[in-house]
Amino acid sequence: MKPLQSYNSEEIEALELALKNEYNEYKSKNLKLDMSRGKPSTKQLDISIDMLHILENNKDYFDENGTDCRNYGLLDGIPEAKRFFAELLDISPEEIIIGGNSSLNMMYDTIARAMTHGVLGSEKPWFKYDKIKFLCPSPGYDRHFGICAHFNIEMITIDMLEDGPDMDKIEKLVSEDETIKGIWCVPKYSNPEGKTYSDEVVRRFANLKPKATDFRIFWDNAYAWHHLSDKHDEILNIFDECRKAGTENMVFEYASTSKVTFPGAGVALLAASVPNVSFIKKQLIVQTIGPDKLNQLRHVKYFKDANGLYEHMKKHGEILKPKFNCVLQTLKNELDGYEVAEWNSPRGGYFVSLNTMDGCAKRTLRLLKEAGVVMTSAGATFPYGVDKRDRNIRIAPTFPPLEELETAMKLFCICVKLASCEKILSNL
Ligand code: PMP
Repeated sequence: MKPLQSYNSEEIEALELALKNEYNEYKSKNLKLDMSRGKPSTKQLDISIDMLHILENNKDYFDENGTDCRNYGLLDGIPEAKRFFAELLDISPEEIIIGGNSSLNMMYDTIARAMTHGVLGSEKPWFKYDKIKFLCPSPGYDRHFGICAHFNIEMITIDMLEDGPDMDKIEKLVSEDETIKGIWCVPKYSNPEGKTYSDEVVRRFANLKPKATDFRIFWDNAYAWHHLSDKHDEILNIFDECRKAGTENMVFEYASTSKVTFPGAGVALLAASVPNVSFIKKQLIVQTIGPDKLNQLRHVKYFKDANGLYEHMKKHGEILKPKFNCVLQTLKNELDGYEVAEWNSPRGGYFVSLNTMDGCAKRTLRLLKEAGVVMTSAGATFPYGVDKRDRNIRIAPTFPPLEELETAMKLFCICVKLASCEKILSNL
């Protein structure tokens, strides 16, 4: 296989024709596949099903202090759940607020409260500024950007480098601009690139010197335990590094069991310094009488401790590994040598991120959609939905059964090549 860029126009036209024929064959199959979100498959949901009955079976609805979890109370969670997550995240139970079923919801709420009331250290609520800004390492998680757009927070795109976001740029920007109030981070197995921040990047985050006294790092550890192989990525504990730097109030960490047990019916949490936790609890008490403690109890009784969860995650890994292999193998078989795309091979997380040639992502996904396969729309991984180079595509292999995934990926590769042929021909 030689690089597509080195083909002459007849060669490209011949290839385009052959690809169009293949494409039309797929199109005639009337496929209907949705790969737009990173959802666990039914098989993955099945592995947690015993958890649902654990309380009823034992008629045990009480936390370790005898609190009846069927009733109101315990704003920040039951003690054994706080200990469970503290062990998982290597922090202390006092640094944890357990919330409802969604960490994204907790992030939204954090920002909503900051807008109306500020965070610890704020001189005024964020809405009192003409404009506030967030830094957005990209490609990133579209729903983070959605929250900013919703609150009219200006987003500044930060490039993702090999070992995390561009720290030179971040350090410079936060130290100069008081209206930069936050940054989104998915530090481990990032969405969508599956990258894990290096020790140096974590340390540089902990040592940021923001001009804003109420600047916050939104450390969304959504994929902390979501490994795809025995070789796990390791990441420094941001709170340890912040304690050394005296900056522990600068971080809000989030995690959930959405992709451990049930998305939408898991347990989410916010971890922060003790002063942050007490500040937030004073606001939270107005917001709710308390979270779903039965679900917390179910989770703790089911997993027992961090090891229980790690074992459970191996089962997810076993289901997911063949799917990721299928994606990566198909990309290699179909695209290697053409030099029309680059992609990552993540060791964890939920996505494979692929970059087409500049200007080909939208066209690739339109071709794919017209043949019945939907993926996350092009641009979604960037602030305002705008990928200036129009090249990043998020592939979500988790939900479809393997056979469907195989078909979808073969078709996807045809679409990448077709879009590339069209692009090269248009430039000739
Ligand atoms: N953060 C990231 C980076 C995610 O990828 C997701 C799920 N797609 C979430 C948060 C959502 O988590 P939750 O279900 O806890 O709201």
